[in-house]
Amino acid sequence: AREELAKKLKEDFPIFKTGSFAYLDNAATTQKPKQVLEAMEHYYHAENANPLRGLYELSLKATEAYEEAREAVAKFLNAKESAEIIFVRNATEGLNLIAYTYGRAFLQEGDEIMLPVSEHHSNFIPWQQLAKEKGLKLHFLEPNEEGIITEESFRAVLNPKVKLVAMAQVSNVLGSIQDIKLFAKLTHEIGAVFVCDGAQSVPHTKVDVQDLDVDFLVFSGHKLYAPMGIGAVYGKKELLEKMPPFLFGGEMIEYVTKEGATWAELPHKFEAGTVNVGGAVGLTAAISYLDKVGFSFIEEREAELCAYLMEGMEKVPHVHIVGSKDPKRHHGIVTFTIDGVHPHDIAAIFNSNQVCVRAGHHCAQPLMKFLGTPSTTRVSLGLYNTKEDVDAFLAALKTIRGVMGYGE
Ligand code: PMP
Repeated sequence: AREELAKKLKEDFPIFKTGSFAYLDNAATTQKPKQVLEAMEHYYHAENANPLRGLYELSLKATEAYEEAREAVAKFLNAKESAEIIFVRNATEGLNLIAYTYGRAFLQEGDEIMLPVSEHHSNFIPWQQLAKEKGLKLHFLEPNEEGIITEESFRAVLNPKVKLVAMAQVSNVLGSIQDIKLFAKLTHEIGAVFVCDGAQSVPHTKVDVQDLDVDFLVFSGHKLYAPMGIGAVYGKKELLEKMPPFLFGGEMIEYVTKEGATWAELPHKFEAGTVNVGGAVGLTAAISYLDKVGFSFIEEREAELCAYLMEGMEKVPHVHIVGSKDPKRHHGIVTFTIDGVHPHDIAAIFNSNQVCVRAGHHCAQPLMKFLGTPSTTRVSLGLYNTKEDVDAFLAALKTIRGVMGYGE
């Protein structure tokens, strides 16, 4: 029944009518359903104007559409209020915003930051740069063989000098999910703040920022069936209020003189310049699409398909899955190596079989070093993937060593 529903959902995505291919690179970006494309088209056909500035009807409509998107994101993440949602381009910009504003204003020389070595570069380099600039110490947490940061290993480095902990809820390489609620609680016990990278969790599981009690959480719309160029930062209001602005310019000010300026109220303080209303409208439509599909279906479906995928992979000689062998721990993300074959050759062979997968270091070079491999290949599932997609992947997988000239 779930397979039938996935097939039906796939029909909502026009790109799959352009040809026959298995799209298995959903952790990089997802395809967009017609509901999202139509909502954006309607916006540009009937409501486009620069929001916030104009007092005429079109501009008011654009403002309304933008603020509706903020309400939709607040509800989606269960934020207390929409002023806690700041729109940005993507998760990367969101993490930079936090490092630049909170990090620069509130971390001092000698303070410490904790983060897993498995973080995506966008939740790694902003902290590394901040540490260099301010003389901070970084502590790297190491995941176990299951891809998990244990409570024990977290407690082993936690100390009163730590002022910030940054962690992805789901790893874009290992697919493993971390116990964010526990780590946020331990972080708060020493008076530090907890930054959660939700880029890979928000598309796969229900995320409730109040239940997790994180101080900040970021995500990208384009991994959530929404367009590229729109993402969000959730931040607790009391923190956002005391943080300085990120970018300066139009729309983020209250009053400007030759001598200085004061800042607009939240959330506008953090949204300098003309914003991406079309993208926000697409995000609203993507969230309502997800609400209709429901996370209980998404979770069960991805676990089921991931189990089918991993079972198939395990039967192919010389293929090694990185991290846990339990599909429930993968959240639709499976990274692997093949003995004697470079991931770029693997991806090229998949490409010639109309299978889209990712090869490389996955923007996680410190993790690759930790795993002792320069690069891997990753397959990642979305809500529209079917057994047929996985079968196409497995059929191509079986041919790879042969294509590369190995005997068996
Ligand atoms: N964090 C994680 C865990 C990711 O997987 C990604 C995207 N691969 C990002 C952050 C960055 O997302 P974006 O490129 O949309 O800013």
